Amino acid sequence: MEARQPSAAEGAQVQSVVASHVVTGDREGTVWAPGEVVWADGIIQYVGPPVRRPAGRRIELGEGVVFPGFVNGHGHAAMTLLRGFADDSRLMPWLTEHIWPIESRLTPEDVEVGTLLAAAEMLHAGVVGFADMYWHTRAVVAAAETSGLRAVVGRGLTGGAGSAEAVREAVALAQELAARGGRVAGWLAPHAPYTVEPPLAALIAEAAAAHELPIHIHLAESEDEVRQLHDRLGLSPIAWADEAGLLTARTVVAHGVYLTDEDITRLAERGAAVIHCPTSNLKLGNGVAPIIALEQAGVTVGLGTDGAASTNRLDPFQEMRLTAWLQKSATGDPAAFSARGALRLATEGSARALGFGGGVLAVGRWADLAAASWWAPHVVPHADPLSTLVYATGPQDVRYTVVGGQVVLDDGVITTFDEGAVLREGMDRARALTQS
Ligand SMILES: [Zn+2]
Repeated sequence: MEARQPSAAEGAQVQSVVASHVVTGDREGTVWAPGEVVWADGIIQYVGPPVRRPAGRRIELGEGVVFPGFVNGHGHAAMTLLRGFADDSRLMPWLTEHIWPIESRLTPEDVEVGTLLAAAEMLHAGVVGFADMYWHTRAVVAAAETSGLRAVVGRGLTGGAGSAEAVREAVALAQELAARGGRVAGWLAPHAPYTVEPPLAALIAEAAAAHELPIHIHLAESEDEVRQLHDRLGLSPIAWADEAGLLTARTVVAHGVYLTDEDITRLAERGAAVIHCPTSNLKLGNGVAPIIALEQAGVTVGLGTDGAASTNRLDPFQEMRLTAWLQKSATGDPAAFSARGALRLATEGSARALGFGGGVLAVGRWADLAAASWWAPHVVPHADPLSTLVYATGPQDVRYTVVGGQVVLDDGVITTFDEGAVLREGMDRARALTQS
């Protein structure tokens, strides 16, 4: 851990946060107690014991923790408008009878407000960036840019060769976003093996290769999906994606619950990442993803919340806890998966999967971080900082979220948009959608 005192020349742009604990999220599990993180121009300049002469703005947290901001590796942000709608059903009827009919009526304005509502929830939870697959993608981009969050977005691609225009639009948007050089990027997002026909899969694979674009896809999420694909083509979802050319070093697979040893080897060989979504998997009765085996095979594993309709809350703390608990339960060994492992997935794992330069508090990394107060009954005492952060802290404790050096949640207040207005409009739009 390099410890460099920031120079005076870095001046007014320098900001820092000092707290009783800094959990760096590095491989060694380094914790500074007390500690300080200093950044300038969006890049971390110093991590270590509190500096003697702070320059610029210094946030003093007192009893609390500074940690790498979470990256939500899979979701459908605007589905916040469908939160709690048609709960407690099976995946296929839930999608076909309840969710898809309502989604077909969503306007771009609905999607923009729903995405902002998701952004508000994520900012309060210490999230610095998110993955998105939805439609009215330009509305998602507008909301993401307003929020200050990082995002990788793409229209959920379904159907056959008739969707060629949608692929061209997704490529054009990704190129436009790359040229703009902001915090939002684009990718190609084929929905799933059961909604993407072979001609469309081929078009997407070709476009991704030609333009070096990442791919985001749901794979091996439910037993129904695996059985149907096997009956139809004799392939596992991973084998199907691989044979279609959709499994690349830039592919981000959501779920990956039902995987054979051969599937795990294929994922590792292609360099694809997997995003674990434990709440969504549990709520839809979809089993437990083999994340220990995936990590042992060298696959990058991150964490995601999935959409609020199948998760109800966009809460990385809940996903971390469930990740550790499910692996302990599945293996019968409480030592099989640790708090540190869960934090790694929610921060470094997801950041690497999405191509973000944060994920760890270290000099030279992007200044994407969050800070939570540890002055409340459920987080006192905090003898083991990693355990307290993962098993006891929640969104209600998060006071600051910093993206690229910009303080977007400042002492619990969102600085980039009017949260109250978004709550009111989200409520009204959701009511109109689900009651008509
Ligand atoms: Zn999903």
